[in-house]
Amino acid sequence: MKFPRTMNRRTVLRAGTALAAGAATGGVLQGCSPEVTEPQAPLPFTSGKPLPWTNWAGNQACTPAARAVPASEVEVIDVLRNAKGTVRAAGASHSFSAVVPTDDTLVSTDLLSGLVRHDPTTQQAEIWAGTRMHALGPMLHSVGQALPNMPDMDYLAMGGAIANSAHATGTGFGSMSSYVAGLALATPSGELIECSATRNPEVFQAARTSVGALGIVTRFTLQNDKAFALTEVNRVETTEDVLADIDNRCRQHRHFEFMPLLHSDLCVTIATDLAQPGDKDEGEDDPQAINTLRSVFNAVRWLPGGDALYNQALTTFMAGDASTVRTGPSFQVFPHVRVVRFREMEYTVPAEVGPACVREILATVKQRNIPVCFPLEYRYIKADDIWLSMFEGRDGCSISVHQFGDVDFKPYFAEIEPIFWKYEGRPHWGKIHTLDARRLAALYPRHWKDFQEVRRALDPQGRLLNAHLKTLFGA
Ligand SMILES: Cc1cc2nc3c(=O)[nH]c(=O)nc-3n(C[C@H](O)[C@H](O)[C@H](O)COP(=O)(O)OP(=O)(O)OC[C@H]3O[C@@H](n4cnc5c(N)ncnc54)[C@H](O)[C@@H]3O)c2cc1C
Repeated sequence: MKFPRTMNRRTVLRAGTALAAGAATGGVLQGCSPEVTEPQAPLPFTSGKPLPWTNWAGNQACTPAARAVPASEVEVIDVLRNAKGTVRAAGASHSFSAVVPTDDTLVSTDLLSGLVRHDPTTQQAEIWAGTRMHALGPMLHSVGQALPNMPDMDYLAMGGAIANSAHATGTGFGSMSSYVAGLALATPSGELIECSATRNPEVFQAARTSVGALGIVTRFTLQNDKAFALTEVNRVETTEDVLADIDNRCRQHRHFEFMPLLHSDLCVTIATDLAQPGDKDEGEDDPQAINTLRSVFNAVRWLPGGDALYNQALTTFMAGDASTVRTGPSFQVFPHVRVVRFREMEYTVPAEVGPACVREILATVKQRNIPVCFPLEYRYIKADDIWLSMFEGRDGCSISVHQFGDVDFKPYFAEIEPIFWKYEGRPHWGKIHTLDARRLAALYPRHWKDFQEVRRALDPQGRLLNAHLKTLFGA
């Protein structure tokens, strides 16, 4: 979610302060108050008891009886062979869905990190699967390579990102899984399977987006690009103008996305292209701007005609504002700092119905007067042929809804999720959704059964299935 740094902080602060001063008292709105969204209280730890685990968003937790931090393939195999109960791997624990929790054995991949080898002719690099994206960027840069595209933050571990088909934006770019040219998978029985499009191809197709249901990937071979530099430009625009011009924007820019601001006509657009000589940083990078938006929303939304007032306030203070520009090596421009805790639901709908779907979400929030101000996020991803990728067989438009971390997300997400179903959306494996195996199978008609066969062959006893994965796979 890129919105936080895109607003010009000074102007919005000015707006927030003026509006807050004009409002005698701030009504407490379910969905947007209170204002502090800071870290969840850690789970209580009792000496001598297992150390609790939580995800980044603080909405998933468990107390694994055993934790393992293997530092080599041999150790991964040993852990998988000997672990008791349900075994789950954790990358950076940035999934919002319950893909990681287990009260039995939790395996951290943090020590499986670094570059194994690289090839300057093919621009391929083999890396350890636990490598965090923020470490991978400089590592690849030092050998003249770069990931072709990256999600909007770089805290993820590559194993976790690829297990969920994590993605960024750009009609010419697939998800992280689509850059995988080969991988090594340690299975629950303790076998190490090397695979690629030509070697164990069925395991390869299943393991490129596996939701961690096949084993622990130890290494990936990535198809990278030569290192490159980018310039990112953020602007405040009118949502309808952007939607009317969306095909053009996507053609014009290497990467394009936008964030519609709920209860207003405005959005923040982000266009990213190869850097040109003379490009230089302008504007501010403000990870707190989302909190400022929240203050403005809380200051005016409860007043009579609050929506109109809010829209007017944003229009007055933001529209036509100078854009912000960031430029530099790709691995520094793609990611953004995330300091405000939130929860997220994201579905990918077929690219061509993206505009209709987002219009319906915006209209629903307005008509039902849902008191939420966290912006949506709208992105495009190229089709691939990976069995359980959200982009399998169709170009995708991913649309995300978010709620602040200190507010119950369920009532809001429950209003919006059926809209995604109407447009045949596929949920992001790492984000919140309510679908089970029956409904998921219908969304992946070509390869759902193929995946299940590989999964059952590699994990016949279901040792990798926690409660969430049992629901996902009907096992
Ligand atoms: C602030 C924030 C921003 C985000 N932005 C984006 C975004 O721009 N795009 C996007 O697509 N998603 C985004 N997400 C969601 C997140 O990127 C995905 O859920 C991602 O898959 C999480 O990666 P992780 O390393 O934290 O994996 P974890 O959450 O730790 O694990 C995810 C899954 O991978 C499995 N796994 C981990 N390592 C391995 C391994 N080596 N072998 C096999 N299985 C493994 C786990 O068991 C689990 O099933 C964001 C999340 C947050 C909190």
